[in-house]
Amino acid sequence: MQKALFLDRDGVINSDEGHYYIYKIEDFKINEGIIPSLKKITEAGYLLFIVTNQGGIAKGIYSESDVEMVHDHLLSILEKENIHIEQIYFCPHHESVAACDCRKPNPYFIKKAIIDYNIDSTKSYMIGDSPRDIQAAEAAGIKGIKIQSNENISVYCDQIVKGEI
Ligand SMILES: [Mg+2]
Ligand SMILES: [Zn+2]
Repeated sequence: MQKALFLDRDGVINSDEGHYYIYKIEDFKINEGIIPSLKKITEAGYLLFIVTNQGGIAKGIYSESDVEMVHDHLLSILEKENIHIEQIYFCPHHESVAACDCRKPNPYFIKKAIIDYNIDSTKSYMIGDSPRDIQAAEAAGIKGIKIQSNENISVYCDQIVKGEI
């Protein structure tokens, strides 16, 4: 079985300061500590996943292709650093338009990854800056690590690698 680290996107991977919705490459700034932390986690044998709510799509603020463009940009930066993200799961829905099964705190995408990638939930983690990230993690049976928005995740990743958390 595999072990995995799940990450929220906005406020964890990239800064959400000054923007509620981020759908332009020029607004997409990777937070301090992400590159070295994800390298270390990769070297320790964890698969990486991103699970993000993108309700701005349902609201008509931006499109799925905007999201995919931002994700291609992110993946190309990470691949240059030899960091591979297995999947970026995004929920394009919002309850103000229509309910769905995949928006966090629903654990849908985490559970899907656990099945599709044969992941050991007892050895896996989710880092998020919102209570709903932690609710999703716990509902999927993995450990949730709540950070402050845009906090450097290095200390938590070190603890994961050392088995201290
Ligand atoms: Mg967030
Ligand atoms: Zn959804």
